[in-house]
Amino acid sequence: MKFNIISVVPEAMESYLNSSIIGRAVGTKKIKVKILNPRDFTADKHRKADERPYGGGPGMVLKAEPILKAVQKLTGRTGKTKKIKTIIFSPGGKLFTNELAAKWAKTYDELVMISGRYEGIDARVKKILKAEEISVGPYVLTGGELPALIVLDTVARKLPGVLGSDESVEERRVASGEVYTRPEVLEYEKKKYRVPKVLLSGHHKNIDGWRGERKSL
Ligand code: SAM
Repeated sequence: MKFNIISVVPEAMESYLNSSIIGRAVGTKKIKVKILNPRDFTADKHRKADERPYGGGPGMVLKAEPILKAVQKLTGRTGKTKKIKTIIFSPGGKLFTNELAAKWAKTYDELVMISGRYEGIDARVKKILKAEEISVGPYVLTGGELPALIVLDTVARKLPGVLGSDESVEERRVASGEVYTRPEVLEYEKKKYRVPKVLLSGHHKNIDGWRGERKSL
C-alpha cells in the first residue's frame, strides 16, 4: 500500500517514518511513503503556499492550487486502475477509528492524506477532490502531520508482513491492555509488585480469559 502525504512541513515526519516498525516496513517495501510539499507546486519566487483568509481574522490559510497540483501529480502518475482514498485532516472531521483503518487497509491501494497548518485549508480543496474530512480526536493540533502519521501507522500495521510476526496483530488474537515482563517481583519504594499469578500458570485458556477481560479495544 502507498501512503501519500501532502504537507508544508515534511521534515516534521521524517524521524518517525524512518524508525522502528514503520521504518522497517518502508525498508522492506511492504509500504511506500511519498511526501509532497505544496511549496514545490507554487509559481512565485517565495514559494508561498498560504495566504490571508477572506473575511478577515487571524492566521493564514493554505492555498488550494499548490495542493491540487501536488495531488494531480500523484494521481496522474498512478493511473485510474488504482483505488485511492483522499483524506483531509480537520479537527471537525469524522473520527478516525481502528475499524476505519481496517477497512481502508482492505479496500485501497493508496491513501492521499492532506495535512493542514495554520487556520486550515481552502475549503474548495475538499469539494474538488471529493475528499473525506478526518479527525484523529476531539482536540486541536497545530498541524495535520501527526494525524497523517497516526493514520499511516494504524493502517500499515494491519497490512500483511508489516508487523514482525502475523500473531502480533492484536485484533487476531487475545491481547490485553495490561502486560507484564521481567522481573516477576518488582520492588519499588519498599513495596513489592507481583505479576498476576495466572500469567505464570502456563494455562493458556485461563491466560486468554484473563487477557480477554482486560482487552483495550
Ligand atoms: N481553524 C481550524 C479549525 O477550527 O478547524 C483549525 C486548524 S488547526 C490549527 C491546523 C490543522 O491541523 C488543520 O487544518 C488540520 O489539518 C490539523 N488538525 C488539528 N487538529 C486535528 C485533529 N484533531 N484531527 C485531524 N487534524 C487536525
